[in-house]
Amino acid sequence: MTRPQDILRPDVLAMTCYPVPDSTGLVKLDAMENPYRLPAPLAAELGNRLADVALNRYPEPRPAALIEKIKRVMQVPAACEVLLGNGSDELISMMSTACAKPGAKVIAPVPGFVMYAISAKFAGLEFVGVPLNADFTLDADTLIAAIEMHDPALVYLAYPNNPTGTLYDSADMERVIAAASKSLVVIDEAYQPFAQQSWLPRASDFDNVVVMRTMSKLGLAGIRLGYLAGKASWITEFDKVRPPYNVNVLTQATADFMLDHLDVLDAQAAELRAERTRLEQAVAALPGATVYPSAGNFLLVRVPDAATVFETLLTSRVLIKNVSKMHPLLANCVRLTVGSADENAQMIAALKLALH
Ligand SMILES: *Cc1c(COP(=O)(O)O)cnc(C)c1O
Repeated sequence: MTRPQDILRPDVLAMTCYPVPDSTGLVKLDAMENPYRLPAPLAAELGNRLADVALNRYPEPRPAALIEKIKRVMQVPAACEVLLGNGSDELISMMSTACAKPGAKVIAPVPGFVMYAISAKFAGLEFVGVPLNADFTLDADTLIAAIEMHDPALVYLAYPNNPTGTLYDSADMERVIAAASKSLVVIDEAYQPFAQQSWLPRASDFDNVVVMRTMSKLGLAGIRLGYLAGKASWITEFDKVRPPYNVNVLTQATADFMLDHLDVLDAQAAELRAERTRLEQAVAALPGATVYPSAGNFLLVRVPDAATVFETLLTSRVLIKNVSKMHPLLANCVRLTVGSADENAQMIAALKLALH
């Protein structure tokens, strides 16, 4: 009889699944989701559109019209091509797979987005994390030294970074891009709707840069659609490792529809940016809380005891993320997603309880 432990990779056997807590009945402020639904008339119109979709057919593998629309609406430079992924998670996975030569490495600042390391590990790449400064700004000198030492295939820069919310200094980023002339630098702009700053207009100015975006944080986390913009020489190669029908027909139709109604999502993002400012001020006024500047739809907050804060909020039926065990620099830090005004008020009330 064959057992999994006889044939599976030892590192897979030793792993645990990506943890997603049960959020039933909770105010869900742990995963940077947009709290707002579509306005009912728009949702109904989308429903009609989706009813017309041919579910019996495979999706278009490279949906040209949708890609053209993304290029136009998102102002992708003319010299760039676009690759679609089932979320940016899948784009990260494709890049890892395509770069997984024996001994190849991936470098990213830490603490950062966990999928860079997880995806590297799945593909058999070595992940090297380079610590940020204590204030979560980029330690560009150390990062550059690590790039020179390890000669990585991929360097990830999340702009802004998750879970810290930091928007790295542009001059630092330029130095890193220049130092990584033998690597591909992936600038991850998942939070662009909240940062309102972007490297996308410059994506074709460099031979070694691609820019990754997603619809997830903009209010469409459920459809799973990410896109990667860069020179055709990169996009053509990554396209080869794309699973043939990776973006399903309902996602393609929804994205096509929503790109014509982006004003709705943009208005929601604007509301969330205003809520972020209000939340930041309210949390900063609480005893013992240190809030870090954030360009995302979330705030990183250091508290006296993160475990107690997490549990007290859960008792108040508010789910946040305790990131304190992710990295030593995050000791006693929690990450709060910016929700609706109501949700944020509930979170603040619960935080007051927890911190007094
Ligand atoms: C949330 C997030 C993503 C989005 O991943 P999707 O698979 O597109 O939902 C990508 N990068 C960072 C840094 C994120 O925080």
